[in-house]
Amino acid sequence: MTDRIHLSKAHVSEVEEKYVLEALRSGWIAPLGPMVDRFEREVAERCGVDGALALSSGTAALHLALLELGAGPDTVVVLPSMTFAASANAVAYTGAEPVFVDAAGDGNVDVDLLVATVEAMQHEGRTVAAAMTVDLFGRCCDYTRLGNRLETLGVPLVEDAAEALGATHARRPAGSFGRAAALSFNGNKIMTTSGGGMLLSDDSDLLDRARYLSTQARQPEPWYEHTEIGYNYRMSNVLAALGVGQLERLDSMISRRREIRRRYVEALGDLPGVAFIGRPMEGGDAEDNAWLTCVTIDEEASGASASTLIAALDADNIEARHLWKPMHLQPVFASHHSVLNGVSERLFATGVTLPSGSQLTDEQVDRVISRTRRTLESS
Ligand SMILES: *Cc1c(COP(=O)(O)O)cnc(C)c1O
Repeated sequence: MTDRIHLSKAHVSEVEEKYVLEALRSGWIAPLGPMVDRFEREVAERCGVDGALALSSGTAALHLALLELGAGPDTVVVLPSMTFAASANAVAYTGAEPVFVDAAGDGNVDVDLLVATVEAMQHEGRTVAAAMTVDLFGRCCDYTRLGNRLETLGVPLVEDAAEALGATHARRPAGSFGRAAALSFNGNKIMTTSGGGMLLSDDSDLLDRARYLSTQARQPEPWYEHTEIGYNYRMSNVLAALGVGQLERLDSMISRRREIRRRYVEALGDLPGVAFIGRPMEGGDAEDNAWLTCVTIDEEASGASASTLIAALDADNIEARHLWKPMHLQPVFASHHSVLNGVSERLFATGVTLPSGSQLTDEQVDRVISRTRRTLESS
């Protein structure tokens, strides 16, 4: 059996080894230290924001952002249905009610529907603590279309940029669009600290409060004094060292993912019933970090379903997956209000993410291509 080809595997080099070793030898192991400060500074700069807070996960970053914006019992947070469960879980942790909104054609939230839903909730007399966007699969939402419509309604935006570090919209970096934004450095993301995340904001008060909550809400006293419930959400110095190394290589990893996507587009773009999500064929992905290449399979035109293709690839030891199953279809969230247009259900039924990791060799990508062609051509 040939080696398994993974969807998106961590990709580390001697660069990361150097920084991690430096952190270990410096004696700054945990909890914080100079690598954390450096990592925060460098990521903030990269994302065009004033400040950053390194945390144990992207989910923790979303949780703290929502808490700081006032999400809690008797409030509502409006967010995309087409996302990973972490976006909705963070809302649930605060006690706020998640309200789900459907997608536009590229899977990102339909921003008109997002704004209309916020307005409708406000008309019902509900307090909308925040609206959330998710920059799905490494592609920013349509922030041009969103404009300042949420601000006009008095509702702050939380940007879940967990998948989108390095992407831009109208040349502005992902992570800079909300009052606060979350990044993830989980193992399968565009870059990793093995596990970790970051909260980004221009609002230094928000970051200071979040920093305090993330370290068990400890009051500045010589003993352990607590007036609020806190969390243990900070990132360690050793993991931040891994992040500093990964950030140095981020652009080359993004280039490689783009190259892999181009290879897929060239080799599979002519197959009937196969369409790439986003617009990589017309060069529309220039601002996308190309985290995962996603296609939809029209069963009528191609003769095979998304599930058939995923199973065929798996039989050949290749990991491909369905897109995120929408939150309004998840048993744990199905009872919540959702505003639907059918797009996220169609994308879930027809979508496939192809192996996209920056460490994949050309031979491995060619193996995915030939297996995909064989499956779809023989159907
Ligand atoms: C990965 C991810 C998260 C969560 O990040 P963790 O670091 O794994 O907690 C949140 N939202 C989206 C959209 C993600 O893909």
